[in-house]
Amino acid sequence: MGRRRKRSRPRLVPKRKLPTVFQCPACGATAVSVSVLKGKEKKVIVTCANCGLRGEYEYNQYLHPVDYFSRFLDDYEAGKLTVISKHEDENNAENEG
Ligand SMILES: [Zn+2]
Repeated sequence: MGRRRKRSRPRLVPKRKLPTVFQCPACGATAVSVSVLKGKEKKVIVTCANCGLRGEYEYNQYLHPVDYFSRFLDDYEAGKLTVISKHEDENNAENEG
């Protein structure tokens, strides 16, 4: 008679959004976040918390964070993005989580 061991334990996977943190093309840090601004006009801000690289996109309900991030990469390669090191009045930027 052997001991019974319960090895498989059902793991509760919480239903959460897809990951919204990506690797920065400029500095290499995994610190790029995608956040939706819910103001009069919905906007999506993609920004690196490490170096300040930033892109801004129109909100589209059909797009996932990773889609904005791929645009962000495209814009970076096209040289459209600027690094903002100083803090501007972006205090209303909410990180949807
Ligand atoms: Zn960066």
